Formats: sequence, C-alpha cells, structure tokens
Amino acid sequence: MDAGDWIAVAALVVALAAGYFAAISARAARRSANEAARLSGIEAERRRDEREERHERLAPSHPGSIVAVLEESAVGGPKNLFGSITVPRDYRVQAEGWVRDSYTLLSLPLLLHANRPYRFHIEHWPPDREEPQTQEVRFHFWPPVDVDDTDPWTCSCGRPTGENADSFGHWELRVPITYEPPMTPWIDYA
Ligand SMILES: [Zn+2]
Repeated sequence: MDAGDWIAVAALVVALAAGYFAAISARAARRSANEAARLSGIEAERRRDEREERHERLAPSHPGSIVAVLEESAVGGPKNLFGSITVPRDYRVQAEGWVRDSYTLLSLPLLLHANRPYRFHIEHWPPDREEPQTQEVRFHFWPPVDVDDTDPWTCSCGRPTGENADSFGHWELRVPITYEPPMTPWIDYA
C-alpha cells in the first residue's frame, strides 16, 4: 500500500469510530429521553391523582335521604311537601325533583351558603295523596364563581364550572325522598 492507501484506511477507521460513538450516544440519548418521558408520565399521573383526591374532598356530602315534611297551607288550600338541604361549604346548586322519568326544577337559591339549612318545595299534596309522587332529588353542584357573594374556591379537575348552571354538575347527587305519614291519633270510642 502506498501512502495514499494508508490515508484512506485511516480515514475509514476514523469514520467507523465516529459512527460507533454516534450510535452509542444516540442510544444513550434515547434512553434518557425514555426515562424523562416515564418520569413525566408518573408525575402527570401523580398530579391527576392529587386533583381527583381534592375533587373527592370538595364534594358535598350525601345526606342519605331528603326527609320530606308535609305542611298545611295557611289559607286552607292544598298541603305542600317540603324538603331541606344543608351543605358543608358554599356551592352553586340546581335541583330537580324526579317523578319516574320526568322532572321539575326545584326552587333553591343559585348559591347555597355553608351550614345553613335551605328549605325547598317538593310538590303540592292533594287531599287524597298518601305518599309523595316525587321519588328523588338530583342535585347539580358547582364551586362558586367570582360574581357570587362568597369567597370563591375552585376545583381544577376539569369538570364543568358553575358559570353556566345549565351544564352538567361538577358533582351530581341523587338523593331519595323519604316520608313518614303523620301518626293517626288513636280514638277511644268506648
Ligand atoms: Zn373537581
């Protein structure tokens, strides 16, 4: 081989070595990119878990049932059935009274303040009625928004916010209605 051949061989060796090290460093880069993606996936999952836990913590507690109370109307008209709800923090709310597969909106303020009982009308009660027609109340709850008369708080889980109270609730509660008929006074005919 002459000098020119040796130079060509040397150049080839350098090129092969460069290719070899490039391959190693590309593999290392890929490995560290995969590791970074794995870690950021774990981190994203941890944050999602935290948001979900916070979402659960902020949920209104389920009252078990709405204990309905029958009240005489003041003017001798039909009786009326009322329920009541108390929430542990301020929420926006919308409530529906469900009879089989149809519902009516119940009259509650848009914003419920914490720890105050809110009474709402469930249904009129004709003289021959013995038990409520309304079977359950479905509550849609949202965190309050800036315009509300409260210190707004938020839940950043991505579920609907209360700006538009026609949307799905951030939390939905289905609460059955229970009703105890008044005791009939025992009459002694003896
Ligand atoms: Zn949430």
